[in-house]
Amino acid sequence: MIVRKSRTEIEAMRRAGRVVAETLARLGELARPGATTGDLDEAAEEYIRSEGGVPTFKGYRGFPAAICTSPNSMVVHGIPGTYRLEDGDLLSVDVGVTLDGFVADSAFTFAVGEIDSDAERLLEVCQAALAAGIEQARAGKHVQDISFAVQRTTEAAGFSVVRSLVGHGIGRSMHEDPQVPNFGEPGRGPLLQPGMTLAIEPMINAGGPDVWMADDRWSISTDDGSLSAHFEHTVAVTENGPVVLTQTQEH
Ligand code: MG
Ligand code: MG
Repeated sequence: MIVRKSRTEIEAMRRAGRVVAETLARLGELARPGATTGDLDEAAEEYIRSEGGVPTFKGYRGFPAAICTSPNSMVVHGIPGTYRLEDGDLLSVDVGVTLDGFVADSAFTFAVGEIDSDAERLLEVCQAALAAGIEQARAGKHVQDISFAVQRTTEAAGFSVVRSLVGHGIGRSMHEDPQVPNFGEPGRGPLLQPGMTLAIEPMINAGGPDVWMADDRWSISTDDGSLSAHFEHTVAVTENGPVVLTQTQEH
């Protein structure tokens, strides 16, 4: 069942989204060579709680940390810990915050120190894929118009989209209907209507699309060891087009 939100509810999600965006901005400052992913997790939890929020991921199906940190060939759901960032790493960070009963969810892949031009291009394409997907989040379009835009942008650049992980509706729960795949046929899937709120999240690989899950039962990495990137925003479909809810106050 797709739950459409009122204007008031969307405003509540925007407040949660601001905390998410501010958290990611702070983590971007900390994602430097020498820092551990555990350091980032600690800083994120402290900031989120100082804003009156709850880190949504902590305890979700037993997840042990406040954020997900996924370096290099790890796609998503990495558990923060002793991994120490090195110059040239990519680090995907995923943050969810619950505030006043509503959830917002966003991810960003940071360049640690100096990265090479291939890695740089992967980040640019993933951000472009997210922007193309968001652009389709309009009343009267369909979910797979988003999916198709993400896929086309990614594959035109010679990269692949992960197929076994998808974006999602979001609201009072982190995962609501509908699923938002990163591949699909235009004009298919549920009709987009004002009040729908979606987490759009391309996960793209420099190599093939296949992934595997580690023994920790969380972290998911590329099969071929190629680099992966992940960018995500929580977006509202409104009468006036797409509105990104996971932005800092300055936007
Ligand atoms: Mg997320
Ligand atoms: Mg998500």
